[in-house]
Amino acid sequence: MGFDTMYFGYHVSTEGSPVSAIKRGVEAGCDSIQIFSGSPRRWGTPEISGEEALAFRKSRAESGIRFVALHSIYLVNLASPEDSIYKRSMSSIISALDKADELDAFAVVTHIGNHKGRGEEFGLERITAGINTCLEKSSEKSLLLLETTAGAGTSIGGSFEQFGKIFESTNRPERLGFCLDTCHIFAAGYDIRTPSGIDATLSDLDGFIGLERLKLLHINDAKSDLGSHADRHEHIGEGNISLEAFRYIVNHPALRELPAIAELPYENAGDFDDLAVLRSLEE
Ligand SMILES: [Zn+2]
Ligand SMILES: [Zn+2]
Repeated sequence: MGFDTMYFGYHVSTEGSPVSAIKRGVEAGCDSIQIFSGSPRRWGTPEISGEEALAFRKSRAESGIRFVALHSIYLVNLASPEDSIYKRSMSSIISALDKADELDAFAVVTHIGNHKGRGEEFGLERITAGINTCLEKSSEKSLLLLETTAGAGTSIGGSFEQFGKIFESTNRPERLGFCLDTCHIFAAGYDIRTPSGIDATLSDLDGFIGLERLKLLHINDAKSDLGSHADRHEHIGEGNISLEAFRYIVNHPALRELPAIAELPYENAGDFDDLAVLRSLEE
């Protein structure tokens, strides 16, 4: 691995103890890892002791894993018309940001939400206010990264333009960033199968959001079709985005040196190794 490469990694489990995620990451050959901030389908962020946090930071420092990102739980909906869900979503992100600081993780990545029929404008206002609250009430360190979605139904986050509106109205721009999921944007309708398609997509991203805000890639191939709005991940080169497109992506000057997380699990030596495929594409 040269210095001018992506920091590839997997989403790994913390089952057992937080530090076990580092061990799993090392075994899988990760330069970066992503872990859930809590049980993904249950409210509440499990507390970690000072000792557990120390063990995690120490093991990580010795591991060569450069980036650790936390993924928020799936229940988070910052566009929810229901006050109870909205408040729980903010609490969940605030506690995840605090946890990220304890673990020395650089960021928390979250899906932003679903307006459930109340309209895009309602959703975007709600999200922006919610994010501002989260950034005011959490510690000063870790970044909050907003992730693209496949744009299904009444969910928000399928177009860069929507994110542009959120970034414009944030009161803490230095702590807010962007996470691009290759599978999600493809399903949302961005055709990234060719170099020209990838360049057009990045230029669109740059116009609405700013490439400097892009801090993390979720590097997944897509089982679903272009514009299908279906979020179905596939192994790199096995889906509809194609190996050649990923070759262009991993060598793209605007994307090099980013952490890039493959989200289909790698648990055993015999499993499909997305990181090996991605590294073989680097020039
Ligand atoms: Zn993702
Ligand atoms: Zn996904």
